[in-house]
Amino acid sequence: MTATPERFDSQKRLGAPVAILAELTHRCPLGCPYCSNPLALDPREDELSTSDWTRVFSQAATLGVLHANLSGGEPAARQDLTDIIAHCANVGLYTNLITSGIGLTQDRVNELARAGLDHAQLSIQDSDAPSADRIAGYKGAFARKLAVAEWITQAGLPLTINAVIHRANIFRAGDMVRLAVKLGARRVEIAHTQYYGWGLTNRAALMPSRTEAEVAIAEVEALKKALAGVIVIDHVIPDYHARYPKACMGGWGKRGLNVTPTGKTLPCHAAETIPDLEFWTVRDRSIEDIWINSPAFNAFRGEDWMREPCRSCPRKTVDYGGCRCQALALTGDAREADPVCHLSPHHDKIAEIAAQSEDAGGVPLYNYRRMKLREPAE
Ligand code: SF4
Ligand code: SF4
Repeated sequence: MTATPERFDSQKRLGAPVAILAELTHRCPLGCPYCSNPLALDPREDELSTSDWTRVFSQAATLGVLHANLSGGEPAARQDLTDIIAHCANVGLYTNLITSGIGLTQDRVNELARAGLDHAQLSIQDSDAPSADRIAGYKGAFARKLAVAEWITQAGLPLTINAVIHRANIFRAGDMVRLAVKLGARRVEIAHTQYYGWGLTNRAALMPSRTEAEVAIAEVEALKKALAGVIVIDHVIPDYHARYPKACMGGWGKRGLNVTPTGKTLPCHAAETIPDLEFWTVRDRSIEDIWINSPAFNAFRGEDWMREPCRSCPRKTVDYGGCRCQALALTGDAREADPVCHLSPHHDKIAEIAAQSEDAGGVPLYNYRRMKLREPAE
């Protein structure tokens, strides 16, 4: 039976997800210390097959999903990427490739475009080459990314540049916006680091001071106005210096779902850090069944799970109590209000952590994201 949003409404007051984030693989040549992948990375031999993924995308399209975000790790590490994109296009999904660019050649970019790729998001680690290579833990990555950006625009694909901001590159947030313009991007995402997964492990090396954050935020906001009509700037400001949390994932189990390389289906990419949640897998359940009935998706849907101060707060349908994974990481309990909120009884923990970053100095030492430990670039 074909699912429709109306059918969801009558059963669960639930619409279809807008987007699916497919982590096609955790393999990646880079080692970004803020990577949102889990600390325990899925090995290649456990990854879903091509036919598993095509089944998942067919089911997603039938369910009413509009966007397929093809991510990783580095999705180009999958030799079947072209087939996967062709299948997504076939079933009517808008495809967005989220890539480090490493592993792509010009021929492969053209092949992906011919297969029906709609959009590419290319990450950069900095606008300064030596710093970018050091952050990525990969010599020559920056130069390669400049070439990939050119191949993407030459193939006629719309380009978005993604930049994650932290202590080592925060002084160049504006330069990264200007670089994105130079590369022909239509959109740039300037996102301050979120502290879970590898970002939490490296928090002491990544977190900028409040003053550094304020200067960078002001510069990017000014560029938003100055470059209106030239480039769209999506600006994700740092949590630890905010008064209210973000509506994490647009609400738990409300807008999207993530499928890991092995097929586990999660409400957000860090959800596996929350103990006792039961995640269903696409190996033995359909996307529709998981979306509607999975215990993990239903755990924090709606407002019934909330405690005070969220339960009686007028913002509870705006930010949904913030991020469950951050609440767990900082309070030990995923049902608490996100401590970023100044109304949370645990908000002092955020202030404590933010204050520590004021004293940080020197060249940050990273715990690089690796499947196997290797020597980082100098
Ligand atoms: S954040 Fe860096 S290490 Fe993680 S998948 Fe992206 S490019 Fe690879
Ligand atoms: S109390 Fe809860 S719902 Fe209200 S603003 Fe804070 S996190 Fe959001």
